[in-house]
Amino acid sequence: MSQRRLFVTTALPYANGNFHIGHIMEYIQADIWVRYQRMQGTEVHFVGADDAHGAPIMIAAEKAGKTPQQFVADIAAGRKPYLDGFHIAFDNWHSTDGPENHALAQQIYRDLKKAGLIATRVVEQFFDPEKNMFLPDRFIKGECPNCHAKDQYGDNCEVCGAVYAPTDLINPYSALSGAKPVLKSSEHFFFRLSDARCVAFLEQWTQDGKLQPEVANKVKEWFSVRTNPDGSTSEGLGDWDISRDAPYFGIEIPDAPGKYFYVWLDAPIGYLASLKNLLDKRGQSYDDYMADPALEQYHFIGKDIVTFHTLFWPAMLKFSGRKTPDNIFVHGFLTVNNGEKMSKSRGTGLDPLKYLSLGMNPEWLRYYLAAKLNARNEDIDFNADDFMARVNSDLVGKYINIASRAAGFIAKRFGGRLGAIAPDGEGLLDLLRVQSEAIASLFENRDYARALRETMLLADRVNEYVDANKPWELARQEGMDARLQDVCTTCIEAFRLLTIYLKPVLPALAASVEAFLHISPLSFADANQSLGAGHVIGDYKHLMQRVDIKQLEALFEAPALTESAQSATESIAPGGEDIAPTIGIDDFAKIDLRIAKIVHCEAVPGSTKLLRLTLDVGEGKTRNVFSGIASAYQPEDLIGQFTVMVANLAPRKMKFGLSEGMVLAASHADEKAQPGIYVLHPWPGAEPGMRVR
Ligand SMILES: [Zn+2]
Repeated sequence: MSQRRLFVTTALPYANGNFHIGHIMEYIQADIWVRYQRMQGTEVHFVGADDAHGAPIMIAAEKAGKTPQQFVADIAAGRKPYLDGFHIAFDNWHSTDGPENHALAQQIYRDLKKAGLIATRVVEQFFDPEKNMFLPDRFIKGECPNCHAKDQYGDNCEVCGAVYAPTDLINPYSALSGAKPVLKSSEHFFFRLSDARCVAFLEQWTQDGKLQPEVANKVKEWFSVRTNPDGSTSEGLGDWDISRDAPYFGIEIPDAPGKYFYVWLDAPIGYLASLKNLLDKRGQSYDDYMADPALEQYHFIGKDIVTFHTLFWPAMLKFSGRKTPDNIFVHGFLTVNNGEKMSKSRGTGLDPLKYLSLGMNPEWLRYYLAAKLNARNEDIDFNADDFMARVNSDLVGKYINIASRAAGFIAKRFGGRLGAIAPDGEGLLDLLRVQSEAIASLFENRDYARALRETMLLADRVNEYVDANKPWELARQEGMDARLQDVCTTCIEAFRLLTIYLKPVLPALAASVEAFLHISPLSFADANQSLGAGHVIGDYKHLMQRVDIKQLEALFEAPALTESAQSATESIAPGGEDIAPTIGIDDFAKIDLRIAKIVHCEAVPGSTKLLRLTLDVGEGKTRNVFSGIASAYQPEDLIGQFTVMVANLAPRKMKFGLSEGMVLAASHADEKAQPGIYVLHPWPGAEPGMRVR
């Protein structure tokens, strides 16, 4: 069989924030597949990149006082600890703002234009007259036309869930300047997805059986009816608006001054750009590589971006005369402890860097996620108890245990020298070897959950063999040395076979095993080999610790919001603490207290202490504030209430997001002795923004 050549990518993360656990799950899923392929001798190019363009990044950069280029460079600089930390071995990490992407996007556009698939049309949009720019939906706010909640985004209402067009908002305002937006028309460029050639191609490409059935079925619906942003429906595929007006951080459209590609046009082209960047660095030809008819191209993505990858992307490639993907592998969302979904824009619950900083083994997480991932587009949940059980009882209890029970005797009694396979061990090893192809095929089909289940069933059989032969008893019996050596040799050989099956998931552990067994890197073909009598192995050092429940507690502990008074006092201490040292009126004046309306309030997934409050302090925009009052209030009881907040407290970056102030609440210093938290509430008549003095 000739060697397969694969080009594999993960979705490009938007460069406006650090990775969250949802990104890490996708990278682990793809990394396991790539490592499996390489263990089969397949050549793989595995690349990622930052998705650097678009209005949200331009606006975030401006707020941070940086150029967009500097802003995304700073985000990119923070990627490495996550990728290295979880053993995610991309061959290259690039940016969609790289020169390769500019050139490729412009060339693909020219090719599509030549094919007659680019059209122009005049579009009316909200324009911010102060910022002098068209406003993306997310930067227009106003009153919900349905439930009349204030300060809702231009695309949907977070209170009642209604979906509408920005033009439906009552009293809309720009979230950037507070100005009232005006409707302004502008010429936009469209990719003509409704063209009969595109429709015919996509009906075939999406329905030929390669896509996951649930994905293909979803896509099929879009060919008959689609829902427009305003909630109305239209027949068939619509054309795709691919342009944005300056100012925009992106790639200029050729021969169209002041027009830029919409970020979603150039983002997937970033896959090709990162590959080209890698091949250029290696002195290889990108054109030759892509021209190889045997090349297979795969994209791992989340279910929220299926439209872009099953309609726009293959059509763009096809009609610009390029190779189309061989498949799109779609996964569901990851929830944490039954919490909120990890979406592209919001990450909560399990902080990957905190996980690493607590000294938790990255391969625990790889193993746990793999044990839950299959080839279907299903959501999976990270459950702390389940995590601990699977790592401790399966991974350590079943697999690691085999080596720890056998290797010591080989080292101590036989100088590390292996004996023969015990006659009653041959059948066991045959059983392990015969499963090699089935397990390989489960990895190939991304059914990691079943691959690990089958492997752990084999580990059960090996442990039964250990229990039946009891090496620790053989070691105490006279004249049983040869038997002890052969039984332990059988166990070591079985451990080596199991290591092959686990290696795509546990690369660092497999490397330790290879070092300890004195063998070269294991591939799937090594399942047909054996170490052989006389082979000398090294000293066994413990290969993996168990999960400590304290680590999990620390991982999910919410950050403390206020430092409670520590000092114990002898004198009468009202409310459990002494009155603070005297200050002057000038000191007090530094604290800007304002009346705030709680326009929205919700639980914070992953935190039992915090509520997320959306506060209106009369500024024409709302503030996000986390408050440690979840033990005392239900979110719905606070919505619509008035309270007092510290309005000039420096914003504080918390695990769950930015907190832009502090709500005032009363409590006893010793919350255990006298529990209860009481949020301050002004007398009727006070209005948002009024100062408390
Ligand atoms: Zn509403």
